[in-house]
Amino acid sequence: MKKVLIVGAGPVGLLAGCYLYKYNIAFDIIDKNSESNTYSKALSVSPATIKAFHGLNISDKLVNKGRKVHSIQIYYKDRKFLNINNKYLPSCYRYHISIPQPETEKILEEFISNSGVYVKRGHKLISWTKENGKYKVSISDGNNNQYTSCYEYIIGADGASSTVRDLAGIGFDGHDYNMHFIMADVLFESSINLPGTSYYIDDDGFLIFLPMPDNMVRVVIKKDGPLPSPRPTPDIDEINYYLSKYCKKSGNAYKLIWSSSANFYNRIAEHNSKDNVFIAGDAFHLFSPIGGQGMNTGIQDAINLSWKLALYIKGKVRRALLDTYSTQRFTAVGEVLQSTDHDTMLIAGIVPKECIDPIYYPEFCNRNHYQSELPLKYSGFLASQKNTTTDLVGRHVPYFEFFSNQHDFNNSYDALSTGKVIIYSKRNDCPPLDRIKNKSDFIFCSLDESDCLSIEHIQFNSENYVVVNPDGYIDFSGKEDDLIEYLSAFYFME
Ligand SMILES: Cc1cc2nc3c(=O)[nH]c(=O)nc-3n(C[C@H](O)[C@H](O)[C@H](O)COP(=O)(O)OP(=O)(O)OC[C@H]3O[C@@H](n4cnc5c(N)ncnc54)[C@H](O)[C@@H]3O)c2cc1C
Repeated sequence: MKKVLIVGAGPVGLLAGCYLYKYNIAFDIIDKNSESNTYSKALSVSPATIKAFHGLNISDKLVNKGRKVHSIQIYYKDRKFLNINNKYLPSCYRYHISIPQPETEKILEEFISNSGVYVKRGHKLISWTKENGKYKVSISDGNNNQYTSCYEYIIGADGASSTVRDLAGIGFDGHDYNMHFIMADVLFESSINLPGTSYYIDDDGFLIFLPMPDNMVRVVIKKDGPLPSPRPTPDIDEINYYLSKYCKKSGNAYKLIWSSSANFYNRIAEHNSKDNVFIAGDAFHLFSPIGGQGMNTGIQDAINLSWKLALYIKGKVRRALLDTYSTQRFTAVGEVLQSTDHDTMLIAGIVPKECIDPIYYPEFCNRNHYQSELPLKYSGFLASQKNTTTDLVGRHVPYFEFFSNQHDFNNSYDALSTGKVIIYSKRNDCPPLDRIKNKSDFIFCSLDESDCLSIEHIQFNSENYVVVNPDGYIDFSGKEDDLIEYLSAFYFME
């Protein structure tokens, strides 16, 4: 019997599958659609997501297939008022990747297929019953044949209308804004004179211009009122009308490849786990598209959950560690929800811009704030997984290099590829580690003064230890006694 069922082979379910495979956990992954997704959908892959791919050693594939976005320009009535530049991000990937969602999914699916596991397409979750602690799951195979299979754990990565969420009785609360957007991927003859990634805002609304590979551009346009029924499907003339209104520099596109429309949502589930059922991605949260946080936040859910579930299934960690999926992701998702709501209301003019925050607009007076904070926010590095008093804990580990002849990695990102929990310290030893039963799941990394830059990055003092989880988040920083207490809560000690 396979232990885990992943429902949904979108980016979130696939990433969870990749990490379960990395930790040698047997799983099934099903998707109700008989073919893989061909809709362009999520385009902007954040530096935090690239880091999750780095942990699987597949970030190069993503970077090579997409287009690098080093900065985002924001214009109000043709006047540039903000340049969100990624060049100081604490990552070796100081850019977003613009790549259509099907390409991202393909990279993940190829990785999973190396394990001999293939997505069962056309297989739809119908219902389950719980018997002797296991889920007896009814699945329809696409030919209207129903079969049952038993699993101990279910991951619901089945999108906005999640069946897993409904079957688990988890509510999904929030609101739609009184506006919708139309969008299209259009082709230009050449990309030479095209602007880079830009937001064009005026008092009527906004247009987002997102260059993609191969002279293609994603255009997103805000429209008033709720999404009409039937959904609008814009044509090339409508897109060119808005391009000439907002972005005269671009000229006209000559061909429309794909178009769509959707509401602006803001929703979060009341829980993200119930017994041994977990939900992640759009099943857990829906954001406004401003800032491109949907898929990227879902991928952080998937990585946070999957390594913990894997070690728990192997009997190596306490349930308390798995339960942190709920608390940590609720904290981080809540932050993203709040900030996308704020940005959406602001740029859509739902509230007068100067009412929200006088430093935003029209003459924002604190440039440093925007130059340092906004790139971090949109890269996915700002949302914290913990409400702590220190800045460090709950944050993504920054990229830093160090000298090490003990390990076959010499930077904080390659350390993540090991799939282990990394403990950094300036000290030469880590006595608490000797007391852990499953020591092989940890790596101790001693940094010396010559690694001063690294030490500066993770704000060491000489007695401190810093624990970085395989999902790339810093989970602890403190002295030896506190480290023992921290480890005892989650791991089995001698
Ligand atoms: C037009 C558009 C543009 C977007 N742009 C961005 C962007 O730039 N950046 C960003 O981060 N996000 C963006 N998003 C959001 C992003 O596409 C979603 O957040 C992302 O797809 C969520 O991934 P997921 O795996 O959680 O769910 P999904 O991608 O929705 O995948 C869920 C899967 O579950 C399957 N499924 C559903 N029910 C069942 C069932 N009962 N049994 C079996 N399978 C089932 C579905 O067939 C589907 O394949 C955009 C979305 C849209 C619509």
